Amino acid sequence: MTTHKRYTGLIEFYRDRLPVSANTRIISLGEGNTPLIQLQNIPRLIGKDVDIYVKFEGLNPTGSFKDRGMTMAVTKAVEAGSQAIICASTGNTSASAAAYAVRAGIKAFVLIPEGKIALGKLAQTLMYDAKIIQINGNFDRGMALVKEVAGLAPVTIVNSINPFRIEGQKTAAFEIVDELGFAPDYHCLPVGNAGNITAYWKGYDEYATDRVCGNRPVMCGYQAAGAAPFALRKMIDNPETVATAIRIGHPQSWDLAWNVQKQSGGWFDKFTDGQILAAQKMLSQYEGVFCEPASATSLAGALHDISAGKIPEGSKIVCTLTGNGIKDPEIAMLQCSAAKPVTIDASLDAVKRAILDGL
Ligand SMILES: *Cc1c(COP(=O)(O)O)cnc(C)c1O
Repeated sequence: MTTHKRYTGLIEFYRDRLPVSANTRIISLGEGNTPLIQLQNIPRLIGKDVDIYVKFEGLNPTGSFKDRGMTMAVTKAVEAGSQAIICASTGNTSASAAAYAVRAGIKAFVLIPEGKIALGKLAQTLMYDAKIIQINGNFDRGMALVKEVAGLAPVTIVNSINPFRIEGQKTAAFEIVDELGFAPDYHCLPVGNAGNITAYWKGYDEYATDRVCGNRPVMCGYQAAGAAPFALRKMIDNPETVATAIRIGHPQSWDLAWNVQKQSGGWFDKFTDGQILAAQKMLSQYEGVFCEPASATSLAGALHDISAGKIPEGSKIVCTLTGNGIKDPEIAMLQCSAAKPVTIDASLDAVKRAILDGL
């Protein structure tokens, strides 16, 4: 006899390890349970004996890992009686907050830096009907304003300084261990505010402490060269990168992330926009996985550290791909401007010739 069990989101699935009770009304869009895809062509291409898996978080309901944190943060905000949530955002947090607020029937206010959020993220946030507050300042300024205004108005902050965000996001590490039967040797992530690297470590650490797995990974946090406060060991004031999701100079989880680095024996490093975009293209071109620019920073870093020998051959590596490539169509079109489709005559002959030319 077959039993049918509908997947209803990560809170239901991992409720024993999350701060909810039997009476909690769960606000979910079925987030989590994302694919862990083993790369097949790239390891061969680089000629290294490594197992690289990508955790494709771009397949969450609003297209980024932020949904893992948001289901918890909004669930707890509603449980506490909150009628409105607020966040500063480089795009994905605002899309996620807006969607979960709709689901819960509460209001979402989002502060975004004018002109610096990817087109798809803006379109989503508009569609979900959030109250968009656009500022002529960057994410860091927006975050400072959100913290100030939350003290004066009845709104719950749902940025990653909200501890429930971290609780939700730690489930990605659970999923990886549940699938592999072990934790990877190395876990590579793009780092912005550093909430996610903190969350993954918390998840791995909980599982290892409870003997669900026997090991903990080395955590590798990678940044964009123009927005690399961890790699430079100091906050920076005017972060700049094509990877807008990690265009952050004053990370909110500064101390927490340094603890992760120390406890896991990991490191931070930085990569140029060129290296990040090359990794994004490579994933699409060789593996059929289209992530957004910021996400590809994890692979850019892993490939660099593998070739430098910092990550030795024989290693099992997981790279988190934090968001979906279709969120940022403008960057994708720029990257592929040399391969723009040419128009031909709508005749059988012309189409046949195009196919024969393309084989
Ligand atoms: C939010 C985000 C990040 C950065 O995550 P932090 O927790 O702020 O370090 C990276 N990539 C994408 C696509 C994001 O949306």
